[in-house]
Amino acid sequence: MELFFTKCKQHHLKITPQRIAVYKALKDAVNHPSADAVHKKIKNEFPNISLDTVNRTLLTFSEINIIAIVEGQGDPRRFDPNLDSHHHFYCLSCNEIFDVYDEALNAIKIPETIENKFTITGKRLCLQGFCNKCNCREKGKRIA
Ligand SMILES: [Zn+2]
Ligand SMILES: [Zn+2]
Repeated sequence: MELFFTKCKQHHLKITPQRIAVYKALKDAVNHPSADAVHKKIKNEFPNISLDTVNRTLLTFSEINIIAIVEGQGDPRRFDPNLDSHHHFYCLSCNEIFDVYDEALNAIKIPETIENKFTITGKRLCLQGFCNKCNCREKGKRIA
């Protein structure tokens, strides 16, 4: 929460209970929720907050760099409260996005042809497939 308060003050963003709730809901989520998922989570506590407001709040948060937008997942946009350098695993079945930390992935060397073409300043891999939960379900179906 520390980062949230510091950055909001820095950018003259008013700290409202709604903004705190949006940030907390994202921070507590582990699988990179969409605005819709965040909205569903806080709707009980804040019945008057619209999906549009939640969406705009999340975009504002990403502009002041307290959260990130998950690249390349298209629609609906997914948000990431984790600003550490890490990789992603995307489940094609349940659409959840998991954080992946792995030294071997960090160490993957960028091919020279690419390095000659671009100046690389960061590297995030996005793996995809089926998470364990979905894998089991798929296997169960096959047996049945
Ligand atoms: Zn899954
Ligand atoms: Zn992440």
